[in-house]
Amino acid sequence: MGLINKSIDDLHTMLVKKEISSTELTKEFLTHIKNTEAKVRAFLTITEETALAAAAKIDEKIAKNETIGILEGLPAALKDNMCTEGIATTCGSRILENFVPPYDATVTAKLKEAGAVLVGKLNMDEFAMGSSTENSGFFPTSNPWDMKRVPGGSSGGSAASVAAREVPFTLGSDTGGSIRQPAAFCGVVGLKPTYGAVSRYGLVAFASSLDQIGPLTKTVRDNALVLNAVAGHDPKDSTSVPFNKPDYTQFLENNVKGLKIGVPKEFFGLGLQPEVEKVIRNGIQTLQELGAEVEECSLPHMEYAMPTYYIIAPAECSSNLARYDGVRYGYRAEADDMIDMFKDTRAKGFGQEVKRRIMLGTYALSSGYYDAYYLKAQKVRTLIKQDFDKVFARYDVLISPTAPTPAYKIGEISDPLTIYMGDVYTIPVNLAGLPAISLPAGFVNGLPVGMQLIGKHFDEGVLYRAAYTFEQNTDYHKEIPAFIKEVG
Ligand code: GLN
Repeated sequence: MGLINKSIDDLHTMLVKKEISSTELTKEFLTHIKNTEAKVRAFLTITEETALAAAAKIDEKIAKNETIGILEGLPAALKDNMCTEGIATTCGSRILENFVPPYDATVTAKLKEAGAVLVGKLNMDEFAMGSSTENSGFFPTSNPWDMKRVPGGSSGGSAASVAAREVPFTLGSDTGGSIRQPAAFCGVVGLKPTYGAVSRYGLVAFASSLDQIGPLTKTVRDNALVLNAVAGHDPKDSTSVPFNKPDYTQFLENNVKGLKIGVPKEFFGLGLQPEVEKVIRNGIQTLQELGAEVEECSLPHMEYAMPTYYIIAPAECSSNLARYDGVRYGYRAEADDMIDMFKDTRAKGFGQEVKRRIMLGTYALSSGYYDAYYLKAQKVRTLIKQDFDKVFARYDVLISPTAPTPAYKIGEISDPLTIYMGDVYTIPVNLAGLPAISLPAGFVNGLPVGMQLIGKHFDEGVLYRAAYTFEQNTDYHKEIPAFIKEVG
């Protein structure tokens, strides 16, 4: 239990002091993964051999007393929509089951450069479409707090594996909440950076104007350390922004005096479970008692965020997923002629939710409906962004629940619209391209509840400051799923 629960700093210190080697550390985590996976099922691929080879190289460096970076020699895992050279990248889909990328995503390359030891690839909703990881083309993942429940999604594997202490940190991707909502359900810290702050090169595209990669960790400080390694401009991604990347750990001060917090009233509306609301109101009060100035505010166009997202995201996905035709990548159906081969490949290769989105998006983009749906949605998206611009003239941070409920049971919700509404507080943030973090803020019936902090573009720093202060003054992040205490 001791080792697997340690922070990045502590593990790093152990390596530097030669109290443990990277090989031993990696083996410890791999053993823990083996002990927990039968129940959690967060991993799609475990890369034991390449992990141990990478760890051995780092041990050589340590033996020669060379300086090692903060992530060097530490195990890590990636959501399976980030390309890994020579390692299967399925995107949670049967259509990419046999896809082995010939190159690394920029985030993969950066983590390798930082010396992180990749131990595997994590389960997800197919093509990141979903909120529970039940849409995985392979199997659902369990929530370590209650194995009968979903871990959230689409980065369910990324969140569950950190909660189960299978790895010190992971990366997830967030198009409408897919880092923050599973982080909330699993009681871990998840950050969706500003759009353009982390390269999307090598991230299998879902909705390119919304997708962002970010870290999932046990603590806020761990999160900032991982963001340090993966953020920054990348010429290979034309939407990546050239900006002065700060050292994110500089913002980790235990102080929110004078911080202006806005509480958007639209984020406490219909569908919000009263017990969850109580946890979040308490969290806001904690920050207020610590010196933050809190005020209610309004984002009047929020009610249009869901319909806007469910036009734009499917439209972009229908275009992005056109490339899976059985010719270029992955699965190819057997058929007598080319047209049938295209059709059968897509009919058999994609799951139900992916097909639903492709149909919705294709319809919204078709010539007779483009103006009425797609163009209109883009205009409303601008209104939503302007709402945020206005409130951010007065506040440094906005606070809301991450999700309206805690984790639900696997198979409990079959209606897609009900599942879609679970992202009602996270989706507006992606539409506006803003950074947001979810952190553990309490429990309802033993299940973790996440609080969302939203910041201005490229102001991840203020999120880390507020989140760190909250964490230093509360104990929620110290709780560990009972099942892990037993195995660990
Ligand atoms: N749950 C949302 C969807 O299904 C968001 C997914 C995501 O952020 N990747 O589209």
